Amino acid sequence: MARLGSWIAPFSEGIYVKPADAWIDPSRPKPRALVTHGHGDHARSGHEAVWATRETLAIMDCRYGPQPGKPVDYGETFRLGEVDIRFVPAGHVLGSAQIVLEHKGERIVVSGDYKRRPDPTCAPFEPVPCDVFITEATFGLPVFRHPATVEEIDRLLRLHDNPDRCILVGAYALGKAQRLIAELRCRGHHDPIYIHGALERLCDLYEELGVPLGELRPATGASKDELKGRIVLAPPSALNDLWSRRLPDPITAMASGWMRVRQRAKQRNVELPLVISDHADWDELTATIEEIAPGEVWVTHGREEALVHWAETRGIKARALQLTGREEEEGE
Ligand SMILES: [Zn+2]
Ligand SMILES: [Zn+2]
Repeated sequence: MARLGSWIAPFSEGIYVKPADAWIDPSRPKPRALVTHGHGDHARSGHEAVWATRETLAIMDCRYGPQPGKPVDYGETFRLGEVDIRFVPAGHVLGSAQIVLEHKGERIVVSGDYKRRPDPTCAPFEPVPCDVFITEATFGLPVFRHPATVEEIDRLLRLHDNPDRCILVGAYALGKAQRLIAELRCRGHHDPIYIHGALERLCDLYEELGVPLGELRPATGASKDELKGRIVLAPPSALNDLWSRRLPDPITAMASGWMRVRQRAKQRNVELPLVISDHADWDELTATIEEIAPGEVWVTHGREEALVHWAETRGIKARALQLTGREEEEGE
């Protein structure tokens, strides 16, 4: 019998699906690209044709200008070459998908980035049984166990009681910022939230695509007095730059899975690290593999070795895939 998954090939620039003559999340321009989600390390411009969910295509249009998009609905099966292809929700950011590939009776699932926790801004991850599960492992070490999201949101809201200071929260422009806003709304915070200009377009797009975010106001141009006692969101790069000096005595926070690592919080002078991640933590990665029970696990996108070892000790064949160009993770 042929080796499992012999019809797809991992290259440094992405995964090539031979019988479909298509690439998954290629980092270089290709004739046919299947794109899991809109983050910059997965979705690039310059392809001749892009299959992705409508939301992901809208995000790509917003970031790169009009794309040669082939919109795909979740659950819809289409055929490219000799491969049946289906996108199912990955629970990572709006529009994010796992890609299910079927060829000659064998099923491969490429998770893309994913998480298992509820996220008010996107459809939940859907486990699909398969022969080969290609999983991300951004937080693939046992030390990474993300706390409950409500605990982190409540820590933020407790600090927010100070009427003279504002809280400046660093959050990536796609996914994290909108999720943070939506989680704050779920916890009953309905005050206007002030946002940095770099977050405006994607927040508007989320609203257009049916994700309500409540009242958002531009932070640029607002007076110091107006910003007192407010929550202000900015991309992480703005936390320590000149822009933040306009804010009234800001308490600096940042929302990222990496905030679990004290050193990372220190580097950005973050006083309030919020461990809010859009990736599965160690327990979710291992529970997902147990639930899917694939014939083989291929691990990519992070700390592969620990998860490969974990799978092998449980009798699941596993290998690490070295894809490059994934270092600049923007949506942790
Ligand atoms: Zn991502
Ligand atoms: Zn990623």
